[in-house]
Amino acid sequence: LAAHDKQHIWHPFTQMQEYVEEKPLIIEKGNGCTLFDIDGNAYLDGVASLWTNVHGHRKAKLDNAVRDQLDRVAHTTLLGLSNVPAISLAEKLIAVAPRGLTRVFYSDNGSTAVEIALKMAFQYTRQCDGTNEKTGFITFRNAYHGDTIGSVSVGGIDLFHEKYSPLLFTAHKAESPYCYRCPFGLSPCACGLECLNRLEALMRARAREVCALVIEPLVQGAAGILVHPPGFLRKVRELCTRYDILMIADEVAVGFGKTGSMFACDVEDVAPDMMTLAKGISGGYLPLAATLTTEKIYSGFLGRYEEFKTFFHGHTYTGNPLACAAAIANLEVFEEERVLEHVREIARHMAERLESFRTLTHVGDVRRIGIMAGIELVADRASRRPFAPEEKVGHRVILEARRRGLIIRPLGNVIVLMPPLAISAEEIDRLCQITFDSIRAVTG
Ligand code: PMP
Repeated sequence: LAAHDKQHIWHPFTQMQEYVEEKPLIIEKGNGCTLFDIDGNAYLDGVASLWTNVHGHRKAKLDNAVRDQLDRVAHTTLLGLSNVPAISLAEKLIAVAPRGLTRVFYSDNGSTAVEIALKMAFQYTRQCDGTNEKTGFITFRNAYHGDTIGSVSVGGIDLFHEKYSPLLFTAHKAESPYCYRCPFGLSPCACGLECLNRLEALMRARAREVCALVIEPLVQGAAGILVHPPGFLRKVRELCTRYDILMIADEVAVGFGKTGSMFACDVEDVAPDMMTLAKGISGGYLPLAATLTTEKIYSGFLGRYEEFKTFFHGHTYTGNPLACAAAIANLEVFEEERVLEHVREIARHMAERLESFRTLTHVGDVRRIGIMAGIELVADRASRRPFAPEEKVGHRVILEARRRGLIIRPLGNVIVLMPPLAISAEEIDRLCQITFDSIRAVTG
């Protein structure tokens, strides 16, 4: 199997993955927070299978929901037809979403949910604002919103941009609050939130050319768990209102409980104009995504047929009944098992365990929000000098962890932990211990 995998499969980010250095780890089964490979070895799933399996693997309620739906219908189009799980899920999502989000547009991955939000914001503004000038977007440095052309365009990680730059549209980049490496050389607490001052200046200057701002609320995940200072998100909402710029909250990574609230926007009581969801929406069972928006925006797409105000977007698997059935069960588990309470409790335990990492010579910063943590490794702690990319320190640490029975993820030199929400205190201890030992084994 390993040979055939190497011969036939084009893995994402091929050369950047540790996979090319070792034989691929081929997973056969999962249960709770554990994955098993084809040789029967067990691994703690420290990244919830790329931030998706919120209740762990083989969750009986989700297994049964998908099986039951299989006995009815596996797929039917949402183009002109509807289906029961898609309707019920839309109602349930609206019930838990930030206020004002009352329309659900389904798709099947996070990048596309963002792409849809961008197209909606652009078209809505053109149709309803009476201007053809507000065509641009504001986004943040270090942001990650996906891999499609539009979502890369509003991304802020240069590595992803460079190769495709001729294909991308320009988005105005605001500095992100990466407090450990403040772009303005200031220190947190005494900075007066200079990033917000600069953001406001950018918004003021660009208000006539910009239709929307895109933000990962509270934390930039793929950049290495860059946690924003308290109040930042709420202030961004205020600025969007002041400068008449739509706010798109990309909750693809942080949504569904990871911060200890259902959505990151809830933590600061923020109601965005659009919200994108994927990953945890179906508990990691089937590909599903959604772009939620307000009645006001939806109504901008209504009108007589000849007016062509329609939203020109539709996917074959939009509102797939199997995926929606899994997502309904996923939301029910949140309620029935008081998952958010568990996350808040287990996150406190995780915070305590992470404290010891600060004693390691090459740990520069430990960042955490809810159950998401990023441990930034540095060559020199005093000067915060990063390890050179060719040293592949992050990859070496996660390979070491794998040998010790833990699956975690490197984002450059940041080690990312984002286990399923269902993780127990004992599993958190194991997750932290193996990570700690692996960092020490690699960096000394
Ligand atoms: N937005 C954010 C914030 C993400 O973290 C990701 C994926 N990591 C995406 C969008 C893209 O989602 P997908 O991989 O499902 O296309």
